[in-house]
Amino acid sequence: MINRLLNRVSPFRSVRARFSAVMGGSGIVLGLALTMFMEWHLEEGLRGSARDTLNAVADEIAHELNEDINNRQREVELMADMIAGRNAIDLQSIRKSMDELQGRESTYAWIGLADARGQVIAASGGQLQGVDVSLRPWFAAGLRGGFVGDPHDAVLLARYLAPRPDGEPLRFLDVAAPLLDKRGIAQGVLAGHLHWDWVRQVVSDTVAKRRKKNTVEVLIANRKGEWLLSFNRHTKLPGASLQAVQSDAAYLVATQKVVAAVPADGLGWTVVVRESIDSAHAPIYHMRKLMLAATTVLAALFALLSWLVAGRVVRPIVELADAARSHARDAAQSPEQPRKRAVDETLVLGAAMDQLAHHDRLTGLFNRSELLARLQQAIEQARPRRSFGALLLANLDNFTVLNNTRGHEAGDQLLVAVAARLRQLEDEGAVLARIGGDEFLVLLQDLGRSPGLAQERAAAMAATVLELLATPFALEDGACTGHSSIGVAVVGDDATTANEVLQGAELAMLEAKKRGKGQVAMFDQSMRDALHERVQFEQDLKNAIPGQLVAFYQPQVHLSSNLQGAELLVRWKHPVHGMVSPARFIPLAEETGLILPLGRWVLETACRTLCEWAAHPVRSHLVLAVNVSAREFSDPGYLQGVRSVLNATGANPQRLKLELTESVLAKDVDEMVDKMQALKALGISFSLDDFGTGFSSLGYLKRMPLDQLKIDQSFVCELATNANDASIVRAVVALGQGLGLQVIAEGVETLEQRNLLARYGCTCYQGYLYGRPAPIQEFEATIERAWER
Ligand code: C2E
Ligand code: MG
Ligand code: MG
Repeated sequence: MINRLLNRVSPFRSVRARFSAVMGGSGIVLGLALTMFMEWHLEEGLRGSARDTLNAVADEIAHELNEDINNRQREVELMADMIAGRNAIDLQSIRKSMDELQGRESTYAWIGLADARGQVIAASGGQLQGVDVSLRPWFAAGLRGGFVGDPHDAVLLARYLAPRPDGEPLRFLDVAAPLLDKRGIAQGVLAGHLHWDWVRQVVSDTVAKRRKKNTVEVLIANRKGEWLLSFNRHTKLPGASLQAVQSDAAYLVATQKVVAAVPADGLGWTVVVRESIDSAHAPIYHMRKLMLAATTVLAALFALLSWLVAGRVVRPIVELADAARSHARDAAQSPEQPRKRAVDETLVLGAAMDQLAHHDRLTGLFNRSELLARLQQAIEQARPRRSFGALLLANLDNFTVLNNTRGHEAGDQLLVAVAARLRQLEDEGAVLARIGGDEFLVLLQDLGRSPGLAQERAAAMAATVLELLATPFALEDGACTGHSSIGVAVVGDDATTANEVLQGAELAMLEAKKRGKGQVAMFDQSMRDALHERVQFEQDLKNAIPGQLVAFYQPQVHLSSNLQGAELLVRWKHPVHGMVSPARFIPLAEETGLILPLGRWVLETACRTLCEWAAHPVRSHLVLAVNVSAREFSDPGYLQGVRSVLNATGANPQRLKLELTESVLAKDVDEMVDKMQALKALGISFSLDDFGTGFSSLGYLKRMPLDQLKIDQSFVCELATNANDASIVRAVVALGQGLGLQVIAEGVETLEQRNLLARYGCTCYQGYLYGRPAPIQEFEATIERAWER
């Protein structure tokens, strides 16, 4: 219930919406996969470049500081060497040099010279002149050989210099070098105090150059790990140790050493450049955001495109589903079976496909394959239970006629009505199917524990079916009956497969038809044997043409006892069965189409014989009659075939007679008459064979360009005793005379028959009385004896 409700309100119940959702989802998956790939591909590079930038900043700061400190150191050393190298110390000029140097290099806050006792004897700007600096670290270290110190707050100089505008204490970094006399003994110390702000400036410039001013923090620690400087606008010196700062996972860190080239307590600073991971990896996050945005856009685009494309792609499916839905509505379904309302196209389609796969479209009964499956199941169940069933195959007797006379709609209505009537048998456990055309199957199970009993019950059921169907049906355009022929095969007997059982029922049904329709026939093995024999016979016939065919000739004699001609009658000299009568193999040849090559061979043989006779003084007038079956005559190539045989053999068409039966008129009469006319124009004559046995109307007879009527032998054989036959013969003769046709009687065996025929006006005769059909040599020998001499 809830499911059905959900299905009804779901926006995805249409195939189109589902298709779009799936495609949109695919877009997201694709986009995410792309994002992950790009991240994987770019992230390492971005991380590396962030680290490289920090390393470069640290490198450059350290390099700049080193450079500057070494330069200052060298300047101080040079000046110290210069002063020491003079013969007499001129304090005035020393001070001047100091002022000059300070003027050139503003980094110097102060430059001064202290004598060996620590008294300042010369200084830039005269500051600290005469002050005792012996206790300052730079002095002692300077005496020992050189000094570069860590920064410190101004001690003595503070009083001489203006305070910083930001109120921060003045800080200096001291550089000192000894004044050595010629013996290498220190006579004093030259020192320079460098503004500590110089370091901040170097850091600030470098960071600005790398465009990292707002994101990186630069820290400088001395050899002891004490923080000397923190560069970042907002941070103070960090409380953490150098080591802790270096290993802080929240930051990306680059370090570099600043080592002065002075021996003693030279500086050993560590420049630490760090940037918070968030800031350093901002490009990665940025890229990720971009990719996610792209993914969303991609997915939306996919969904939109799919919606548009789905309109086209899905339309046929929807149309198919609509068709299926309406078919499901129309299909005959048992009224008690509630029709399921499918909620979407695919469900409708699925249900309809299932219906189509197992059921007959028209009647809703099972189809052939479904019935075969169930039959197979029944066979398998019957054997172990020793319980026999039966398969009934009912074929409507006059269905083709109904279809042809009242139209296919009426035919369909009858089939649906038959199915509905057969459904009554379902109450008795019957399984019903229609297997195409007008054939219905009824599968019955558990009819009894012996084949005999099953057969008995099946026969009773078949009789019921006959009766059921024989009761008139009310169709839209009037009533109609469904007379049928039924074949029955027992299930669970010796037949092993469903197909074999079905074939048995089919053979039995054909037998029922053969016995005169409206009947029930039980399958028995002889039917299958006959079928096999027929199949074999057909194969043999194929191989027989033309090698095993033999032409027999039977004389046709005129009233005046003159030999008029002969009829060519074909024989098949079967390697096993001996001479086979055409009455047996001609119908088969007609069914299989083999009549065409066979007829061609007969015609060629006849024409060759005519050619031979043409050269013979007594036989040259003989007319040779050839039988042509309807199937052969109606073949579109027949006319051309005759022409080409005549041409090839050179036979005289005036001596050739074609024997047709009335069945040729079953085809298109006009066409057949035209064909006869065309052959007639060549000189060929026509005889109507077996006259009196067909149904042709006299009207048609008038239209046919005939030369001869041939009274069928069935009217001749009892001519002397059967008054009906005599009347028919008389009527046929009269008809022939009326139409100006010669009349010939076949099957004339006795003189009495011949005389009666003559009395009735029949002028030509063929029959054993004059000679049996015989091979050419025998025929020629006979006619020579009887007529030619
Ligand atoms: P059909 O054309 O009516 O041939 C006459 C049949 O009557 C022949 O049988 C012949 O042997 C038989 N017959 C002749 N005289 C007598 C008689 O005095 N008494 C009796 N009882 N029978 C007599 P056959 O040769 O067995 O031919 C049977 C049918 O086979 C023919 O009937 C014809 O319809 C068909 N047929 C024979 N040869 C050919 C052929 O070359 N082509 C075609 N399409 N059909 C042929
Ligand atoms: Mg004939
Ligand atoms: Mg005949």
